[in-house]
Amino acid sequence: MSELSATQEEFRSQVARFVEAEITPNATAWDLDDSPHPYPRHLFKALGDLGWLGVGFDEALGGSGGGPIERCVMFEELAKGSAGAALGIYVHTSLAAAALANIANLDLAERFVPSMLTGQLTGAWAYAEPDSGADVTRVRLSAHPDGDQFVLNGSKMYITNATFADLILVVARTDAEPGKLRGLSVFAVDGSCEGLSRSSMPKLGMRPSELAELHFDNCVVPADRLVGELHRGFRQCLAVLSQGRVFAGALALGLGRAALEAAVTHVGTREQFGAPLSANQAVRMTIADMTTRLRGARHLVYSAAEKLALGEPYDTDASVAKLVSSETATWVSERCLHLHGANGYMLDSPAQRFYRDCKINEWGEGANELQREMIFEAVAKGYRP
Ligand SMILES: Cc1cc2nc3c(=O)[nH]c(=O)nc-3n(C[C@H](O)[C@H](O)[C@H](O)COP(=O)(O)OP(=O)(O)OC[C@H]3O[C@@H](n4cnc5c(N)ncnc54)[C@H](O)[C@@H]3O)c2cc1C
Repeated sequence: MSELSATQEEFRSQVARFVEAEITPNATAWDLDDSPHPYPRHLFKALGDLGWLGVGFDEALGGSGGGPIERCVMFEELAKGSAGAALGIYVHTSLAAAALANIANLDLAERFVPSMLTGQLTGAWAYAEPDSGADVTRVRLSAHPDGDQFVLNGSKMYITNATFADLILVVARTDAEPGKLRGLSVFAVDGSCEGLSRSSMPKLGMRPSELAELHFDNCVVPADRLVGELHRGFRQCLAVLSQGRVFAGALALGLGRAALEAAVTHVGTREQFGAPLSANQAVRMTIADMTTRLRGARHLVYSAAEKLALGEPYDTDASVAKLVSSETATWVSERCLHLHGANGYMLDSPAQRFYRDCKINEWGEGANELQREMIFEAVAKGYRP
């Protein structure tokens, strides 16, 4: 893809300035916060006031212009400051709000999306369950019709933002046995719904974001909270998840850039054997390789975003972008930690934070093995690299 336009570059600078002032200085403290509620929730309102939650959304629903490229710019810069903080915003906008905006009927979308884009309402997206990870067809949480409402029973696990979310988009089985994609519907459930209990789950990385385990015990949800068609809602959401891969790729890219910058600073200032570490050719080669791989990942992420913006087929490019960007971020973060030595191993060092934060990107938005399967199938049908 071509480089960013002048307007897009200006937007990048604005987001980068915000991140430098409001996110980067707090990232370590958020990461070390051991309370059950470390997420910096004020960011929803702050980014909503700036109009950034609405980037890429239809103006009729409160969107603020821009498109996929601007959304990538935003996630890349936010994740450079704190990948955990960026993850909460990503789930809120690019999964929960996007599913409502793209799949729900207009009444439901108009009822919730504008308040989500100002940050007044927070959202979560819940499909994972104890027995349903990469394989979504194993979803068991059930929604039984009862007059003009549905009754939900079952559990969800590892759900970002769901400890506090006002609205949780829940994938539920309304028909057919587990093992089938058919029969999966999506409901917009109030976080305060009676019978819903939520508990936080401690984790290795992305620690400022909050993960919840959810139990639905006869939760009554009005039928008008159905997102998309009955039995087909999840299938309709696949396009939203495919778009999400592009933005998840941008998030991983931002994390990788932060790791590269930290590594460059460290090897330029840490002296051993009478010279900075960067005087060693092996170190310089490592920095060059980190830069080169990130440059490749950037190209893939932004060219997928460009195709999405142009309305061209982009699914396989989204898989390629997410795959390469996430694995690049993991590799770059590991090299960053390696170059830091013991200094990077300390809990107040960003290097070890990047190393812990990066791994989820390889499973999130579809495990990378599944991306490889999809790429293989596309190649068999003539996809050209
Ligand atoms: C920080 C974090 C945030 C999350 N946020 C959310 C959220 O907001 N909403 C939500 O619904 N879920 C969320 N999840 C859960 C996420 O959706 C799952 O991690 C993901 O779907 C993979 O499922 P799993 O972790 O159970 O792994 P499994 O599916 O059990 O896979 C385990 C391993 O096997 C590999 N594997 C799986 N299938 C195959 C295959 N066919 N071939 C080869 N290898 C395979 C995987 O790549 C992985 O390495 C989150 C998880 C984390 C850790």
